[in-house]
Amino acid sequence: MSPKKNPIPEQDPNVRNKNFEEVALGYTVEMAVDEANRCLNCPRPACMSGCPVNVKIPQFIARVREQDFKGAYHKILEDSSLPAICGRVCPQENQCEGKCIRGKKSEPVAIGQLERFLGDRPELASTPKMAPKNGKKVAVVGSGPSGITCAGELARNGFDVTVFEAFFTGGGVLVYGIPEFRLPKAVVKREIDGLEDMGVKFEYNSVVGNMATAEELFEQGFDAIYVATGAGLPKFLNVPGENLPNVFFANEYLTRVNLMKANKFPEYDTPTKHGKNVVVFGGGNVAMDAVRTAKRLGAEHAIIAYRRTEDEMPCRRAELHHAKAEGVEVLPLVSPLEFVAGEDGSVCAVKVQKMELGEPDESGRRRPVPIEGAIEEIPCDVAISAIGTNANPFAKKIGGKMELNKWGYIVADEETGQTTDPRIWAGGDIVTGAATVILAMGAGKKAAASITKSLLGE
Ligand code: FAD
Ligand code: SF4
Repeated sequence: MSPKKNPIPEQDPNVRNKNFEEVALGYTVEMAVDEANRCLNCPRPACMSGCPVNVKIPQFIARVREQDFKGAYHKILEDSSLPAICGRVCPQENQCEGKCIRGKKSEPVAIGQLERFLGDRPELASTPKMAPKNGKKVAVVGSGPSGITCAGELARNGFDVTVFEAFFTGGGVLVYGIPEFRLPKAVVKREIDGLEDMGVKFEYNSVVGNMATAEELFEQGFDAIYVATGAGLPKFLNVPGENLPNVFFANEYLTRVNLMKANKFPEYDTPTKHGKNVVVFGGGNVAMDAVRTAKRLGAEHAIIAYRRTEDEMPCRRAELHHAKAEGVEVLPLVSPLEFVAGEDGSVCAVKVQKMELGEPDESGRRRPVPIEGAIEEIPCDVAISAIGTNANPFAKKIGGKMELNKWGYIVADEETGQTTDPRIWAGGDIVTGAATVILAMGAGKKAAASITKSLLGE
């Protein structure tokens, strides 16, 4: 048994920074069994309390150890519907693995990698047990992790489910935000195909609020609605020059590449600027995805510019480590002041204010404070802002009697997801603000249980 985590095989950094294929390659059977042997099978497993949906971690790992992969896979499915996805993108270091007792003296068990190992074996899945049709119809608005989880649970409970999705394809941020090199689109497609096989209908290019309001959906015969429209509205930096050509919001930049295949222009219709000097403002996962995408599009200098230091960056440590190995440069303690236009009118530089760390703020992190007179200009031909998002404004247009809070997020009961309109449930980022895949998935599951109880009295 390996004393430390079985390292995950990866593409070489100098090869992968030129392609969009997945970086981490996944465990072999031998590695997975060896890793499972590292689990101490604690009587009171702290790892489970670290998982937002309480996956029965020691129980599934015990089955991996016995090479009962089917049993292990189904043990996970009792609590999480998307193991191949969560195994890849959950911030395990702050969740399940962060609580693993082995991690106190050495490295935690690679719980996420074991989930991915199982999730990547579709042959382990059985035909889901479906309740008889109950004659009730539910509309799900949005096909991100929250919407598809809710849809799957409801279909299994015998409901006639239609998912309305604004884009031409399903998966939400899993397909248009998180790049292929972290989460292959084929993994998400497998989940959507599975739902279709269960009878879930997908209506693409359908923006609820434009094409129909909640009241109109009820008039069409739907008995309940689950709203999971996400939090995709970009936050502005509010500095001069933000509207210059080749200054992008990260979500727009990532969507162009991930969904519209701008990296394959002119084979695909949507172009994007392949910058040589790219500066990305932000320190979260979205910023990391944007800068690593820019590197793969040929940037010679791909820079992450952050107003605090590396230690305070909210991104996953693994993503920062991967980005630096791929040649991404980190420029700490700077804040953008102005984007400067070149002779052709497009961005050619960004002026930044240098910062230092002051006293801690309400988040407990030391506040960045400007150093008087310390202003620099960084040349760039692409600049990307990744400083966060706000509520999807369509939540308001969907209508019904749903209450929104002052930031435009839907007010919903934490346990059930029911909104102030008793016929409408909501969950995922449109309720919590930008969060994580597993939280969005968990909300979809809770809402499905509540809708079932409400419509069937079960
Ligand atoms: P979304 O995934 O945003 O899906 C909402 C869907 O609703 C979209 O498909 C949208 O098109 C659709 N929609 C919106 N309005 C309407 C309408 N009116 N009618 C019909 N459809 C509509 N989380 C992690 O856990 N790990 C990570 O590594 C991670 N990395 C991320 C990287 C990026 C670039 C981004 C942007 C986010 C990342 N996240 C990560 C966060 C995570 O992806 C989100 O928390 C999660 O996707 C939220 O799920 P959701 O179902 O609530 O919404
Ligand atoms: Fe860990 Fe995420 Fe799996 Fe929970 S769902 S056990 S947090 S990887």
